[in-house]
Amino acid sequence: MENLQELLDEACNRARPLVREGRVASYIPELAKADPSLIGIAVHTVEGETVQSGHAAHPFTLQSISKLFSLAALMRFRGPTGALDGMPCEPSGDAFHSIVRLEEEAGHPRNPLINAGAILVSSRLPGGDPKEIAGTVGELLASVLDAPVPVDAQVYASESATGYRNRALANYMQHFGLLENAELACEAYFRQCALTLDAKDLARAGLFLAGNGTDPMSGAPILDPQCTRSILALMSMCGLYDQVGQFALTVGLPAKSAVSGGILTIVPGRMAIATYGAALGPKGNSVAGVAMLQFLSDALDLSLFG
Ligand code: GLN
Repeated sequence: MENLQELLDEACNRARPLVREGRVASYIPELAKADPSLIGIAVHTVEGETVQSGHAAHPFTLQSISKLFSLAALMRFRGPTGALDGMPCEPSGDAFHSIVRLEEEAGHPRNPLINAGAILVSSRLPGGDPKEIAGTVGELLASVLDAPVPVDAQVYASESATGYRNRALANYMQHFGLLENAELACEAYFRQCALTLDAKDLARAGLFLAGNGTDPMSGAPILDPQCTRSILALMSMCGLYDQVGQFALTVGLPAKSAVSGGILTIVPGRMAIATYGAALGPKGNSVAGVAMLQFLSDALDLSLFG
């Protein structure tokens, strides 16, 4: 694609002024230190073309984007049905850390991409301590990238010291018998959320999702096609919390956002796109990221809906 570089530059330029409309997440104190003026975008196509613009080499913690990879890791052990057992896989229509439906639905998280669901996923991963459990997620990423993926110790400690709301979700699920050790599940989840990449490497790491589960660069089978389809379907229904409907209308692609400001977006069969911009809108999604994706989807006619 000849003009992809120009398009990404243009996407960045148009999105840059919008960062003033958002706010950096601060409920995890360490995340409040992020500089909202840094925005970036990276594209990795299944043919191997890589293009980036802005601060695509600025590292950030994966936060909720890690939920895709913990789910993929669990699906490798248990298959799609076992991994998703007890989760109806419906959009929640609530904030990512909402507890409301757990009360109404006997502790069952609506889907694995909200916090409660992701904590349940982490509780099912093999390993006896948080390091080992989150290590399963890090290893999946590392196997694609062929390089270790670090955990940001400060962000991990910061979330661990303040994660009362997630602990409430986990304790709720333990009360209803969905998991056995709320504290262990939370610590593993906090640690996996602190895995750190930049947009360039995130697009590379997520490329197997665009390749029907096979990494198009190495040919390595990462996840079976049925599991991959399930993850993409979940992303399109639940990937941006209760902004996911608007995102489907304006961008029309499966994506997963994070409070650190990252978004991983997949164009099945074609490319992975990673964006970064720490200023978040009212629904907890990066304002610059959403704007860049909307621009690119329009420019390249990427929407899955025609
Ligand atoms: N670690 C964060 C939390 O649980 C992830 C949330 C997110 O990125 N939306 O609150």
